[in-house]
Amino acid sequence: MDQTRVFKIASIPADGVGKEVVAAGRKVLQAVAAQSNGKFAFDWTEFDWGCEYYAKHGVMMAPDGLETLKDFDSIYFGAVGWENVPDHVSLWGLRLNITQNFDQWANIRPVKFLPGVTSPLRKADNTELDWIVVRENSEGEYAGLGGRSLSGRGPGNEIALQTALFSEKGCERIIRFAFELARTRTVKKVSSVTKSNAQQYGMVLWDETFERVALEFPDVRTESVLVDAMSAKFILNPEDLSVVVASNLNADIFSDLGSALAGSLGLAASANLNPERRFPSMFEPVHGTAPDIAGQGICNPIGAIASAALMLDHFGLQAEARQVQAAIESATAAGQLTRDIGGTADTQTATDAIVAALSSTLAAV
Ligand code: ATP
Repeated sequence: MDQTRVFKIASIPADGVGKEVVAAGRKVLQAVAAQSNGKFAFDWTEFDWGCEYYAKHGVMMAPDGLETLKDFDSIYFGAVGWENVPDHVSLWGLRLNITQNFDQWANIRPVKFLPGVTSPLRKADNTELDWIVVRENSEGEYAGLGGRSLSGRGPGNEIALQTALFSEKGCERIIRFAFELARTRTVKKVSSVTKSNAQQYGMVLWDETFERVALEFPDVRTESVLVDAMSAKFILNPEDLSVVVASNLNADIFSDLGSALAGSLGLAASANLNPERRFPSMFEPVHGTAPDIAGQGICNPIGAIASAALMLDHFGLQAEARQVQAAIESATAAGQLTRDIGGTADTQTATDAIVAALSSTLAAV
């Protein structure tokens, strides 16, 4: 028999429900590997970085953490943030530290409407809805440029500058990525989102780059939409969307809107990709630490499990990725739903239902 391919995965559950959903995703991935007849296996290393680590060590991750992570095939991440650490410290200290330093410039966030899950948009009919938000993940509004000053002038006089960075190269690579992704989909269309009427420098550069790159993809339909109009479109004409490409902040907001429309924040998956593969990519649910339900064993594991499917796809295991997605859909169609999407299943029951559905979906994909 051929040698087993072993994928080295760094697992960083971090905080809140991150711990619960990463455990669920690992369980599904282990089941997929077990069914592969020795074709592949996963070698897991878990890191205890996050806000508890910060309480002990004063930092969010080990000082040589990035060096350590470089050797992994990918990173499987939970969620970061807790009340003992200011949000901007925890986010920059761990998640953004990884995405920025590993140049994970493309953030892919599919919005998938699942069978058996009722959404506000499902009221009218059962139109098939699924689109992908492609988020610029390395610059834009989250470039971390700026500063605070003048506090010496006394209370009420401090100023802050938060500068967005748009480079032509940064715009071009994410826009090109979106077009290439659109070519792989049934509906070949890219919607570009900016606010170039009000933000006349960076976002006009984005718009012009979009128009230029679009010329190379005559087979892909395009539209340029202002961010406010796109918010309405997500709700009024979602069937018109296929690939939506936007800057860091705008796409961050949109993907939450999309997953809420699909039924819950707990459903949305994401991949932070370094498409050149110079660094490991990172896979994580879109949702945060959900402190209101953390530790109760009731959170929805689907966002994390669907992110694990994106990781399989990244490893070149496309059939297995489809198998996991099909197992999710089979479990929701059978009514195995956590509370956030109207059911009564706890995290473990929902995860086990997906694991159980894996064997029946293997034949189907
Ligand atoms: P953070 O500061 O970490 O982003 P947050 O509460 O602001 O936390 P989320 O963690 O994304 O943001 O949670 C927003 C809402 O969505 C909460 O009501 C939470 O319970 C719910 N939610 C998030 N993730 C899940 C999940 N996996 N299952 C069920 N509900 C979830």
